[in-house]
Amino acid sequence: MSYEKLEELKTGHKVQISGGKVSVPDDPIIPYVEGDGIGRDITKATQRIVNAAVEKYYGGKRKIHWWEIYAGEKAQAKYGEMLPKDTIQAVSDYKIVIKGPLTTPVGGGFRSLNVTLRQLLDLYACVRPVKYYDGVPSPVRNPEKMNVVIFRENTEDVYAGIEWQAESDKAKKVIGWLNETMGTKIRPESGVGIKPISKFASQRLIRMAIDHAVKHRCNSVTLVHKGNIQKYTEGAFRDWGYELARTDYADRTIAEDQLQGDAGSKIVMKDRIADSMFQQILTRTDEYSVIATTNLNGDYLSDACAAQVGGLGIAPGANIGDEAAMFEATHGTAPKYADKDMVNPGSLLLTAVMMLQYMNWMEAGDAIENAFAKTIQQKKVTYDLARQMDGAKELKTSEFATAIIENL
Ligand code: NAP
Repeated sequence: MSYEKLEELKTGHKVQISGGKVSVPDDPIIPYVEGDGIGRDITKATQRIVNAAVEKYYGGKRKIHWWEIYAGEKAQAKYGEMLPKDTIQAVSDYKIVIKGPLTTPVGGGFRSLNVTLRQLLDLYACVRPVKYYDGVPSPVRNPEKMNVVIFRENTEDVYAGIEWQAESDKAKKVIGWLNETMGTKIRPESGVGIKPISKFASQRLIRMAIDHAVKHRCNSVTLVHKGNIQKYTEGAFRDWGYELARTDYADRTIAEDQLQGDAGSKIVMKDRIADSMFQQILTRTDEYSVIATTNLNGDYLSDACAAQVGGLGIAPGANIGDEAAMFEATHGTAPKYADKDMVNPGSLLLTAVMMLQYMNWMEAGDAIENAFAKTIQQKKVTYDLARQMDGAKELKTSEFATAIIENL
């Protein structure tokens, strides 16, 4: 495969992913997008820690070969565009990418690079584990009760990008057709968006969530939807979820309304209406384990859950498909802190842990997670946590990385 401006590494081998099965050599080439703003600070710190853990736990037998590819501001400077073909090609060839945050200008016909990447590579599941690390300041009384993995559908819903600006010719045409032939009463000057939800996309996402619950022995999968109002999109998501559990996981799952007493080793399939879920996750936090939900609900819910355990600065995330996976920090570029060696690299670091687990390099992943938790317990933290903790020692990003490496 030839690239316009990227030079392929001469050392290392490609990761293979096919039909969701991952095969990783001992010397994988891992493409990375540094990210804009604080992306520069956190990528540097994360790679140092990952390299140290891999070296420590595999003693030279395994090594990651990092390969820089470009998106966002760096791509603009190198290619004259924010998301060059080279980058998309590199991810589809090399299968895994880890990326820092990218700037998304608000409005003005510019689509989010993150959303575009997810759709082009068909990374249909946004996976966000949310759990509490002892010592992290939290706004709730029992943050330790939170331990969920959210599977958010990534390709459909109002994120499909099908919308027309108010008073544009296309919006008028769509509204005209709907009002004249479908009996709707949409105000002619409205903007219009379309929310597609399909059985195919819903079930492959829910399948990934149930498979995760089976693999990790989780006791429930909760389908979160707004089906009481949007019956044929959100309601259908719920129905297709239960249907999948009945047809393909009959021996592994049981619907909550069929439950009589203890579920035994079966996974309980539940569903909750989205607004109710926001209060349930606060009031009955430990009743939830794996969550599968539509795109917009998942977007809101992931951030709300992350806030409950101490915020986005440490929340990891991945976008996973059957042929590729993109691991990304969940916060933005926080431009005011860029290049100040100040912010918390925790989100990207725990994202790298997810990547190592996905690669089946469990020892290195677990070691980093434990060292991260230990460093926080020692009250050695970056500014964002230090300002909320009594007696904390405030460290720079790079110093925090060094402290984690020492705790490996
Ligand atoms: P943001 O960059 O996430 O920053 C908002 C605030 O969150 C920061 O001012 C800081 O709060 C805190 N924060 C974020 N990351 C942190 C970290 N690693 N350590 C410590 N604190 C952290 O959100 P934004 O200002 O709304 O967005 C800025 C740009 O990022 C926009 O262009 C947006 O589109 C983009 N964005 C990209 C992604 C992505 O690439 N995945 C995601 C979200 C936003 P304090 O100042 O209170 O300390």
